[in-house]
Amino acid sequence: MRYCSDVDTARPRTRVLITLLVFVLPMLLGNWALLVRYRADLRWESRQAASNTLGLMETMLAHAEQANDQALPFLGKPCTEAMPTLRSLVAMVPFVRSVNLSQGDSIYCTSQFGLREIPYVADAYSQGRLRLMEGNLVRRQHPLLSVRAASPRGAVLTVIDGDYLSFMLNFNHRAMPIMLRVGDSWLDEEGHFFAAEPPLASQDHVRLQAAGYSISIYAGYSSQPTLLGMWRHRDFGIWLLLGFCAGFAAIMWWLLGRPRSPTSELARALRAKEFVPYLQPLVESGSERIMGVEVLMRWQHPDVGLIRPDLFIPQAEACGLIVPMTSLIMGEVGLRLAAEQERLPDGFHVGFNISAAHCRDDSLLEDCRRFLAHFVPGKVTLVLELTERELLVADPHTLALFQALDELGVKLAMDDFGTGHSSLVYLQQFHVDYLKIDQSFIARIGTESLSEHIVDNVIDLGHRLGLALVAEGVETREQAEYLEGKVTYLQGYLFGRPVPVRQFCDEQLGREGLPATGVKEALLEPA
Ligand code: C2E
Ligand code: CA
Ligand code: CA
Repeated sequence: MRYCSDVDTARPRTRVLITLLVFVLPMLLGNWALLVRYRADLRWESRQAASNTLGLMETMLAHAEQANDQALPFLGKPCTEAMPTLRSLVAMVPFVRSVNLSQGDSIYCTSQFGLREIPYVADAYSQGRLRLMEGNLVRRQHPLLSVRAASPRGAVLTVIDGDYLSFMLNFNHRAMPIMLRVGDSWLDEEGHFFAAEPPLASQDHVRLQAAGYSISIYAGYSSQPTLLGMWRHRDFGIWLLLGFCAGFAAIMWWLLGRPRSPTSELARALRAKEFVPYLQPLVESGSERIMGVEVLMRWQHPDVGLIRPDLFIPQAEACGLIVPMTSLIMGEVGLRLAAEQERLPDGFHVGFNISAAHCRDDSLLEDCRRFLAHFVPGKVTLVLELTERELLVADPHTLALFQALDELGVKLAMDDFGTGHSSLVYLQQFHVDYLKIDQSFIARIGTESLSEHIVDNVIDLGHRLGLALVAEGVETREQAEYLEGKVTYLQGYLFGRPVPVRQFCDEQLGREGLPATGVKEALLEPA
C-alpha cells in the first residue's frame, strides 16, 4: 500500500539535498544559457566591428583604384609630364600617400621624388593587385598598402599609408583585437606588421573577406569567451541569476519544511521505519520473575525525538495506517527476540496492542503466523491485546479471523479491563484468555478503603469470569504486595519501564531467572 511519494523530504539530509539541487541545477542551466548568449553577443559585436572595418577598407581601396585609373594614361610617358598629375592625385584623393609608375622590374617615377629608379617585384602582389609592406625605402618601420593596376605598358602603384590602416582598424573603439590580412601579411590595430600568422588567427574570431580582393578582416572578441570572462563582464546577469536561484531554493526549503497533513507525515514515518518497539516486562505475581513483555510503540521522529503512542495512534487508527505500523513492529520484535530465544524462558509472553481496525484485516493472521515462525514451537506465547474501550463487532468475518488465530495458538487479552462494558458473552465469543486490569484501579490501592473495594470488585469480576488477570501500572511495593495471590501477572514501573528491544535484551534477559525487583533500580530511569 502506498500513501504518498517515495522521497522522504522531511529528512534533514533529503531536504538539504533537494534544496541544493534546486539551487545548483538552475544555476548551472542559467550559467550555460548566459554563456551561450554572451558568446553570441561577443560574436555579433566582432562581426559588427569587422563589417564596419571592411566597409572602410573597401572605401580606401576604391579611392586607391580611382588614383590608379587616373594615373594609368601616364604610363610610358616621361616622368616630368606625369609628375603634376601624380602629385595632384596625392593631394586630392583621400588616403593616398604616393602614386608611382613602374615598368618591368622597377618603379621609374614617384609622386614623392619624381624620376627615380626603385626595384620592385610584381610577383609579391597578392593576385597581382595588393601588397602589404612593413615599410619602404623612406620609412622602413612604417607599414603601407600598395594597390597595383597593371596595363601592357607597365603598372601604377598607389600607396595607402599605414596610419590610415591603423585608424581604420581602431575605428570601432572597442577593446577587441582586430587585424587586416593582405595575402600572407598582417597588420594589427596598433600598426604592427606580421609576415607570418599572428596568435589571433588561432583564437576565436570572426573573419570577413572583401569582395574581389585578397583582403580579410579578423576581429577577435572583446573579452574571453569563457565562463570566467562572462563572470567578469556580465556580473549583473550572474547576480540576478544567483538571486533568483537562492530565492527559489529558499522557497523549496520552506516548502519542504512546512507542516504536512498528519496522515502524510505518518505515511512518511512508516516508510522511514521511524516506528520502533519498546518492551515492558510482565512479571509473575509473588516470584516477580519476568514471564513476558508488552510491546509498546514509539515514534522516533528525526526532528522532534521520541513521541508517545497516545499522540499518534488515534490518527494512525483513523487513517488505517495502524495496520502496516503494527506489522512493522511485529516483524522487528520477531527478528530481535528470535536472535535471543535461547535466553527466553519457554512460553515467554509477547503482547502486542491491536486496534479494532486491525481485526477486520486478514493481514493480522499472516503477521501472527510470520511472527511465530521466528521461534521454535512453544518458545513464545503471542498475545494480542484488545482494548475494552473499543469493542469489536462480532460479525462472521471477525469471528472467523479469531477462530483462525485461536487455532494458531494466539492468545487474546482484554486490555484496560474495567473501563469498558464487555459482557461475559462478548469475552467468550472471542475466546479471551487474559484480563488486564486498568492502571486507574491499581493506582487506587492504598489510598482509601472505598477505592480498594472497587479494585477488589474488578478483581473479583475477573476471577468469576475464570480468566488469568494481569495488573497494569504497578508502581509501588504496597500495590505489588496487595495484588499478590489475587492476580497472575504484574506490570508497571516498579518492575521496569518500557525500553528499546536491545536494552531489554541486554539488561533484563541478562538477569533472566532473577526476580524482576532485582533489576528495577536500573529501569526506573526514564526510558
Ligand atoms: P496500554 O496498552 O494500556 O499500555 C500501557 C501504558 O501504560 C503504556 O503507555 C505504559 O508505558 C504505561 N505504563 C506501564 N507501566 C506504568 C506504570 O507503572 N505507571 C504508569 N503511569 N504508566 C505505566 P504507553 O506506552 O504510553 O502507551 C499508551 C497506550 O498507547 C497503550 O496503552 C496502548 O493503548 C497504546 N499503544 C501503545 N503501543 C501501541 C501499539 O503498538 N498499537 C496500538 N494499537 N496501540 C498502542
Ligand atoms: Ca496494552
Ligand atoms: Ca492498558
